[in-house]
Amino acid sequence: MSGSGRWLTPTGGYLRGYSHSLNPYVGCSFGCSYCYVRRMPIGLFRGEPWGTWVDLKKADPAKLRAELKREKGKGPVTVFFSTATDPYQPLEASAGVTRALLGEMAEEPPTFVLLQTRSPLVARDIDALSRLGDRVRVSMTVETDEEEVRRAFSPSAPPLAAKWRALRQLREAGIDTQIAVSPILPHSPTFAEKLAAAASRVVVDDYFRGDGSGGKRSAALGMRELHDKNGWIEWYDPSVADDLADKLKALIGNDAVGVGADGFAPPRVIG
Ligand code: SF4
Repeated sequence: MSGSGRWLTPTGGYLRGYSHSLNPYVGCSFGCSYCYVRRMPIGLFRGEPWGTWVDLKKADPAKLRAELKREKGKGPVTVFFSTATDPYQPLEASAGVTRALLGEMAEEPPTFVLLQTRSPLVARDIDALSRLGDRVRVSMTVETDEEEVRRAFSPSAPPLAAKWRALRQLREAGIDTQIAVSPILPHSPTFAEKLAAAASRVVVDDYFRGDGSGGKRSAALGMRELHDKNGWIEWYDPSVADDLADKLKALIGNDAVGVGADGFAPPRVIG
């Protein structure tokens, strides 16, 4: 693909610890009910419902290397990959944009990159991730361990079994991987144990901490009503995240459990 667009966008500090965001696609096929992007200009400009469209960016992946070099000349480059799409769209299986960008990063490594996804397709790129070593962390969203709940909130997103399988593959390959329980949804009594067995680090976030508005944005998206309609209203409460975080801390240790936006920050050893 050709084009003059940029890959790296300065965050202006709104994402704690990250200097840049990187969105390989515009739009997102997963269309999660709780997605804040659906109400942002980037989610509204097409005038079509969020989740029904996804576009390739008009930019050449090979240009990322020069951008990284230039930005690294100014200071540490910490990249949140991605903030307004999922880098492993179904389209990525054929388009390979994220894969190409990881390849460019391996040639001109940023200080740190968080690869945030909910798709098992990430396991396809274990070879590219390995080349980035400890400069990359995969963050896999698993908001629940109940397939019925996953279907109610994100029916177009990948099923849970495929995500657990991808997590096993990443772990076996030695890729630094965390699970993002974000936003936390109704789950089984053994969710904490399953999470602890699948990743060495877990971030727990909810509508009240994670949406940057004390829960107002999520309320505007109808999340309270969606819980209520399904008989899950008791799960719409900040204590749910606290309880899971406490259980996880007992299982994998305080340092391996992040809570809220801080949990997504780069490791302290870098920069
Ligand atoms: S995968 Fe992420 S960007 Fe896509 S709809 Fe879900 S929350 Fe939004």
